[in-house]
Amino acid sequence: MSRYDLIVIGAGGFGTSAAYYAAKRGKKVLVLEQFERGHRRGSSHGESSIIRKAYFEHPDSIPLLQQGYKLWVKLEEISQRELISPCGLMLAGSPESNAIAGTRSASQTHGLDLEDISETDLEDRFPGFNIPDGYDVVYEVDGGVLHVEDCVDVLTSLAEKRGVEFQWNEAVTHWESDGDQVKVWTKETTFEADALIITAGAWSPKLLANIENFPRLDVLRKLMFWFPVTSDAYDFSMGSSGFLFDMPYGEFYGFPCLDGQVIKVCQHSDGDPVTDPNELDTQLYAEDLEPVAKFLQEVMPDVEVTPESHSAYMYTISPDQQFIVDQHPSYQNVAFGAGFSGHGFEFASILGKVLSDLAIDYETELPIDFLRLQRFS
Ligand SMILES: Cc1cc2nc3c(=O)[nH]c(=O)nc-3n(C[C@H](O)[C@H](O)[C@H](O)COP(=O)(O)OP(=O)(O)OC[C@H]3O[C@@H](n4cnc5c(N)ncnc54)[C@H](O)[C@@H]3O)c2cc1C
Repeated sequence: MSRYDLIVIGAGGFGTSAAYYAAKRGKKVLVLEQFERGHRRGSSHGESSIIRKAYFEHPDSIPLLQQGYKLWVKLEEISQRELISPCGLMLAGSPESNAIAGTRSASQTHGLDLEDISETDLEDRFPGFNIPDGYDVVYEVDGGVLHVEDCVDVLTSLAEKRGVEFQWNEAVTHWESDGDQVKVWTKETTFEADALIITAGAWSPKLLANIENFPRLDVLRKLMFWFPVTSDAYDFSMGSSGFLFDMPYGEFYGFPCLDGQVIKVCQHSDGDPVTDPNELDTQLYAEDLEPVAKFLQEVMPDVEVTPESHSAYMYTISPDQQFIVDQHPSYQNVAFGAGFSGHGFEFASILGKVLSDLAIDYETELPIDFLRLQRFS
């Protein structure tokens, strides 16, 4: 039987990051992933993800995010690959909406670079957008696009270079710990290690089922769409930014058009419950498209409302829509990260580091108390 310092379950954004940072500390690490390398059946997919610093969802997370941003830049330097495309982020909503009031408050508290866009500047600054009457618009200078698959690929490759062993198509069925050692079972094999990290995305509830009163995680089916554009108003090369709109019928976000042909626009709010993540329905239905098409018709007139392509992935939502990152309450050598609630990817760099600290040292110097399990007790 093979022995490791650390086993990581799941090779998405968080698992690959945790494995890399543990290996950087000289640990012998095994990652067990149920699917093949580069699969697209979880959450760390879809080409692009928003990265920003004025995090209105929880201002306590901004110091973490600032460190996470630096780690992504460091990973770019080491790998010589572009992971972030800086382009800014425009946010629009009613003055009291979270997107506006929350972003303003987070920026003020943490001294972030946020511009208020006056009505007269809108046309010049954001051509191709019809801003609804009564909406405020702010622009976060540090916003950008994080290239999701590239991030996971870079983390995987750098981890491999540091000696991490990845076993693909190896689904973990169950695990046990006595607080000092763990045993992890797949269909064919048993693995042993000193510590375990569980980063299983939408599959987390099953692997964390032995935590008493673990908060309910809701898995939602989320669609991403790529729509043809009819002008260059949204082009990255023309200085177009990412965007997030808080509309009365939902929250919508998107990215600058990267290839001059299609633009990615999605709905952040809502989503159908997924009962079994292995059976995610990836087919497109008319009702999936309705809210996004309505948004495009109202706000983005130079975008066609019939998508050129779509993909379906999963959000894993915690009760307060914040991440849950902690040690297992019964086993100090088991750490987990779950419930990233559709907005966690940008934290994968820094929280991977946190998870490796928790599994190796049983503590971390980074400020994560607001993410711990005890907030639900
Ligand atoms: C549509 C969409 C849009 C998003 N937009 C943004 C955004 O703009 N900004 C942002 O910051 N975040 C965004 N997110 C959120 C972010 O992508 C997720 O929070 C993040 O990808 C979660 O990563 P993960 O590693 O927890 O999960 P995953 O990437 O799903 O990885 C979990 C891995 O564990 C494996 N696994 C599970 N069970 C087992 C088992 N028993 N044995 C072995 N392997 C197992 C799975 O196969 C999977 O590979 C978005 C998410 C989605 C779905």
